[in-house]
Amino acid sequence: MVQCPNCGAQNADYARECEFCATALERPELSSEALELRDLLLGMSLGVEDFNTICFALDMDWHGFTDMSDEAGKVEILVRQLDGQGRTDEVQRFLRDFRFPQNYPPLPKPPADNLWLTYVYACQNVEKMEQLQTLVEQIGISDAAQLPGTAIPHKIREAISVARRANALPYVHEWLETLQPKEALKRPRIRERRSRTPMPRRSSQGS
Ligand SMILES: [Zn+2]
Repeated sequence: MVQCPNCGAQNADYARECEFCATALERPELSSEALELRDLLLGMSLGVEDFNTICFALDMDWHGFTDMSDEAGKVEILVRQLDGQGRTDEVQRFLRDFRFPQNYPPLPKPPADNLWLTYVYACQNVEKMEQLQTLVEQIGISDAAQLPGTAIPHKIREAISVARRANALPYVHEWLETLQPKEALKRPRIRERRSRTPMPRRSSQGS
């Protein structure tokens, strides 16, 4: 929280001016790396569910953001949290190749140690609520339909989050082992991007 120097009110960490008396608030400057990360995230124009999914992928709890409507404010808080954890560089690299699950290439089997890839694998292979129901029963949730979110990917994300908090991720992986990708494994596009070779510099000699 940031305390207003004028009226003493407590304001959110990202607040630019006091909510009560509109006095400009001094916040610590973002480092240049954090500013880059903030602009990268803002440039992705994340909707609410996309923002939650990004937080999930980064292993940051998104539930505290659910009541906030100010997208720029949420992004700034997230960036300040990541910066405080020394994760700015790591997250920048991650986001450069980030894809939401819909178009993610099929994976051959559920990764055991990466929350995000576990989620992607589940999104590729779970189409019906009945499938998800068997998982949520194993991790102690009675009704998959009651998980937050409107679409199955949102519910999968919440279920995996619950499983993680309850140290029940092994159940998730056991369950995922019973599912198979519908399509054969394709080489991920992410690799194509990474192996992209720089263009030869010929134009600079033409002038
Ligand atoms: Zn004030």
